[in-house]
Amino acid sequence: MFSITENISRTLTLIREAELRAGRPEGAVRLLAVSKTKPARMVREAASAGQRDFGENYLQDALDKMAQLTDLDLVWHFIGPLQSNKTRAVAEHFDWVHSIDRLKIARRLSEQRPVGLPPLNVCLQVNISGEANKAGVTPDEAPALAEAIVKLPNLMLRGLMAIPRPETEQAAQRHAFSQLRQLQERLKPQAPTMDTLSMGMSGDMDAAIAEGSTLVRIGTALFGARD
Ligand SMILES: *Cc1c(COP(=O)(O)O)cnc(C)c1O
Repeated sequence: MFSITENISRTLTLIREAELRAGRPEGAVRLLAVSKTKPARMVREAASAGQRDFGENYLQDALDKMAQLTDLDLVWHFIGPLQSNKTRAVAEHFDWVHSIDRLKIARRLSEQRPVGLPPLNVCLQVNISGEANKAGVTPDEAPALAEAIVKLPNLMLRGLMAIPRPETEQAAQRHAFSQLRQLQERLKPQAPTMDTLSMGMSGDMDAAIAEGSTLVRIGTALFGARD
């Protein structure tokens, strides 16, 4: 029988095993439960199993769920493509945005972050495999964007996010993740608040953890396939 509680516990065990294999401390890698398109009751079940971080791609879908879950203390991450007309609601309702790839969007989020809330945590999305028509800045563009974001008062630049081209070989998976980690190391002197590498999904989680991921984004393995 499909149980979200069991799926979370199994996934946390896999994360822990990967941490051990990589010689990383327990708890180095955070599980982001990607709940996009899934109903609020599934988020609630995951929360009762101890899960705090949830990832969403579609604004209205996310806002509807949040409204049903105000009694829970959850951390909401926006991980999908973000258009200008959606920034205000994202700045008002989310704790993190992983998909920043334009200064215009970052500026709007900073301006629209409500007074009284802590800075919005953001990651730059990097097109690490250099795929055409894929979201994210190129590694070459990342330093200038990072430098500009660091100056925005209501954002906190936490790190980098990537969705590399799917590869079946671990070596190829690791190569892409290692590029992202090295880019983060190069940016750190100008962006010392960067402590997050949002990399790794179900199929490449081990490789990502071996290369220093601090947050893996997992949806289907927790909540089942999306329609
Ligand atoms: C949907 C999504 C995921 C999770 O994908 P699954 O295949 O459901 O595990 C992770 N990261 C991003 C950016 C996504 O949009």
